Amino acid sequence: MERHQVYEQLKNRLKQQGISVRCLEPMSRHCTIQVGGPADLFIAAASCQLPFLIQCCREWGLPYAVIGRGSNLAVSDQGFSGVVIRLLDGKESIRPLAPDGYWLPAGVTLAQAANRAVQDGLSGLEFAHGIPGTVGGAVFMNAGAYGSEMKDILTQVQVLTPDGEVLHLSPVECAFSYRHSRFCTSGELILGAAVRLRPGDPTAIREEMQRLWQQRREKQPLEYPSAGSAFKRPPEGNPPAAALIDRCGLKGLCVGGAQVSEKHAGFIINRGGATAADLRELMAQVRTEVQRQTGVLLEAEIRFLGEE
Ligand SMILES: Cc1cc2nc3c(=O)[nH]c(=O)nc-3n(C[C@H](O)[C@H](O)[C@H](O)COP(=O)(O)OP(=O)(O)OC[C@H]3O[C@@H](n4cnc5c(N)ncnc54)[C@H](O)[C@@H]3O)c2cc1C
Repeated sequence: MERHQVYEQLKNRLKQQGISVRCLEPMSRHCTIQVGGPADLFIAAASCQLPFLIQCCREWGLPYAVIGRGSNLAVSDQGFSGVVIRLLDGKESIRPLAPDGYWLPAGVTLAQAANRAVQDGLSGLEFAHGIPGTVGGAVFMNAGAYGSEMKDILTQVQVLTPDGEVLHLSPVECAFSYRHSRFCTSGELILGAAVRLRPGDPTAIREEMQRLWQQRREKQPLEYPSAGSAFKRPPEGNPPAAALIDRCGLKGLCVGGAQVSEKHAGFIINRGGATAADLRELMAQVRTEVQRQTGVLLEAEIRFLGEE
């Protein structure tokens, strides 16, 4: 069967389940840095629908990719030849877990989770409030800020294996390290996670979230589309990536519409009309120049999806 016939069949099957599918959806709409060509099929779905959707993709032999808010992601200009599933869960799907925790479906945003915690007087998610991603993306990346990481608050992660099995993993089994987890290579999909917090004063928690948000606004180029830090922190003993890039005189360097932010050299911003190829080329130039001048090889933090 031709690929387009398979897509038609899949669309019909999903329609019967009330799941809407978009064809040739520009992925630049679903990545915060706003680059990327079309996905053949694009589905926005709740985390609980993921096992069924993956089963369909597997039955028809279709490549698939699961994303959250696309805040650490750049899709290639050629797009993605397959099915992109974007997880979206409402804040009402957050479930309290006694005594001081929550069950968070993968498509809930960190901001929704942090806002719920402050309402309930639970502390521990303040660091995550300003990270513009979902729980799924944050577990995948072991996202972190201000000295805390997802691994510090997780007690369990529920995953869907490539064989369609649902597993419950302990944090140790997730093999978390700096901006890395086993999910970066395992092909497992995150369905949700349990977090443990601690009781706190709602006013103090809110003030801390506002203080950290203010710090982000002052230091980060939030007025431009970006995917956050373009590079990971270099190995211990080296200055942060932003300091190295700045020291090498690369602030403001442009390729097409992509630019090393003048405000924060760790960010690459889209000044308008940037392509994924611009972003890749700029990152390559920064890596080469930083290595030439300092000997440090920077590793990309942004994840790339689709053929170059
Ligand atoms: C302005 C700005 C500030 C940022 N600040 C920070 C920061 O302080 N700290 C930090 O760590 N990051 C930061 N980031 C990066 C980003 O927000 C985080 O990495 C975030 O956790 C990504 O979540 P997401 O839902 O957007 O994931 P996406 O970008 O959608 O996906 C990231 C990766 O995870 C995979 N993935 C997503 N969901 C799932 C799932 N359910 N199952 C399996 N795989 C999945 C995707 O396939 C992709 O490979 C920032 C980004 C921006 C734009």
